Amino acid sequence: MERGKLKIKKGDEVVVVAGRERFAKKKGKVLKIFPEKNTVIVEGVNFVKKHRRQTRQDRQGGIINVEAPINISNIMLVCPKCGKPSRVGRIRLEGGSSARVCRSCNEIIDK
Ligand SMILES: [Zn+2]
Repeated sequence: MERGKLKIKKGDEVVVVAGRERFAKKKGKVLKIFPEKNTVIVEGVNFVKKHRRQTRQDRQGGIINVEAPINISNIMLVCPKCGKPSRVGRIRLEGGSSARVCRSCNEIIDK
C-alpha cells in the first residue's frame, strides 16, 4: 500500500479488479471508506446476507442483504476523464495543495 493519503475517495466510481469472482469487473460508487482497515464499501458490490434479529421496532427480522467492505487493493478508480480503470498518482499544486492524477491520461481528477 502506498504511503500517504488514500487514493480512493468517497463518491469515486471504482471497478473491482480482484477478489471474489462474481463481483469481478463490477462498477460502483464508493459509499464508505475505512482507512484504518484499507477497506471500502462499494455500492452494489459484495453483498452478503446478514441475519437481523427481530426487534420491537422491526418485527420482520430475518435475512437482509448488506454490502460488505472490500479491500482497497481489489478495486481501481475509474477515471472520470478517460473512463479507464486507472492507477492514481498525486501531484503538488501551486500553493501547496495536492491533487490526484490519472496515470492513464495524466489528467487531474480532482482539486
Ligand atoms: Zn484518465
